[in-house]
Amino acid sequence: MQPSDSTVIYPGSFDPITNGHLDIIERAHKLFGLIIVAVADPLHKKCFFSLEDRIYFVRESTKHLERVRVEKLEGLLVDFARKKGARAIIRGLRAVSDFEYEFKMAWMNRRMHPELETLFLIPSENYAYIASSLVKEIAFLGGDVKELVPPVVYERLKDVKIDGKGPSLEVE
Ligand code: ADP
Repeated sequence: MQPSDSTVIYPGSFDPITNGHLDIIERAHKLFGLIIVAVADPLHKKCFFSLEDRIYFVRESTKHLERVRVEKLEGLLVDFARKKGARAIIRGLRAVSDFEYEFKMAWMNRRMHPELETLFLIPSENYAYIASSLVKEIAFLGGDVKELVPPVVYERLKDVKIDGKGPSLEVE
């Protein structure tokens, strides 16, 4: 099957990108002409990695996909989508627990931009249990996350050290 010409946006905080996110990006890449991965600084949670690092991790992890672009998401997603001429937003659904939040967001975005569809893709069952928050927690406590994240993220997570103030990145 040939991918369509459509541009779609895959937004998220990607703190950090995991193999679950990557699985969704690869699936979208088979279907659509251009996938813009829009990396956001969410208002409702504080990210561990800087926006620059998160963008770098996504870029490095998607180098093999020729029609993927990685950008910073500023402002409302619906405005960003209009600016990019995107037809749809891609989101990943892992479990029923994702559903309520995703459903609310999709309705809200539709209110603001009725022509923009939200499409849900389901990852391979091998990645369905992976969440960025869980990956960080395991890595910070010394567990092995090699199978869960792209190599560039795995290497960086090795630099995290834990002191009395909690996890932080080692500065050269
Ligand atoms: P946000 O802060 O917007 O939820 P995330 O980076 O946590 O950003 O997630 C972005 C999207 O990727 C969401 O739709 C989320 O459900 C999806 N996602 C996260 N982890 C996985 C995974 N392991 N498999 C499939 N989709 C995932």
